[in-house]
Amino acid sequence: MPERKTVLVTGSSRGIGLAIAEKFALENFNVIINCRNSFERLIEIQNNMRKFNKNVIAIKCDVSDYDGVYKMFDEIKRLFGGVDILVNNAGISYIGIFNEMKPDMWNEIIDVNLKSVYNCTHIALTYMINKKKGSIINISSVWGNVGASCEVIYSSSKGAVNSFTKALAKELGPCGIRVNAVSCGAIETEMNGFLSKEEKDNLINEIPFMRFGKTEEVAETVYFLASDKASYLSGQVISLDGAWI
Ligand code: NAP
Repeated sequence: MPERKTVLVTGSSRGIGLAIAEKFALENFNVIINCRNSFERLIEIQNNMRKFNKNVIAIKCDVSDYDGVYKMFDEIKRLFGGVDILVNNAGISYIGIFNEMKPDMWNEIIDVNLKSVYNCTHIALTYMINKKKGSIINISSVWGNVGASCEVIYSSSKGAVNSFTKALAKELGPCGIRVNAVSCGAIETEMNGFLSKEEKDNLINEIPFMRFGKTEEVAETVYFLASDKASYLSGQVISLDGAWI
């Protein structure tokens, strides 16, 4: 029997993270789902997924807090030994004119979108390096590749995630650990819930595929990147944007 692998998907109480966690749960992985605020919702998700996979565990943790992440990994170590696949998905966005952004806003976005990637990866690696195997997948954004007006901090955080991905992949190649990122275009989630119908239609007109991406399409890409089918693929930032950018 092949060993049952463990995956942590940060920020999986809804949207892209939830679809990724669902995919791995359906494929019979041990799955740790996580969020910072909506814990009741996370427990409900855990209970639903346990109807087809008993090894789904919900852990509340603010991934921007190193000590909290350390405790989360202690719990995972106790339950499953460690994390074989880490999906750094948790993220927040904020739209606004750069001049009006206060230092607190910078800290909050960078902490959740970038420091969390450092926190989780840093702690996950102890186990992966011992095993000489592992896969890290960062959920990034096309704005990290090209920058977006009125999303300067968000774009900065995702641009840094892209460089982090490429640099760490080089460092960890000899250890058998792969690091990749999925740079998403416009995906149908609550993160885009602030858009009016008209704004959404205008955006769709710019996208050659003439629609938003589906969370399941991100999940399939992440699942492929985590699988042995992608065994020579590392250091890549893959744009998943319907040929938008
Ligand atoms: P979403 O629907 O707003 O979900 C974000 C998830 O992250 C939620 O589960 C949220 O849970 C969690 N989260 C936020 N801060 C957290 C923290 N400090 N600690 C732990 N969990 C935290 O967003 P989404 O659209 O699915 O986005 C997921 C990822 O894709 C993000 O990194 C985002 O930047 C990226 N992305 C999205 C799009 C898009 O069009 N949707 C495009 C490009 C990139 P709680 O609020 O309950 O804590």
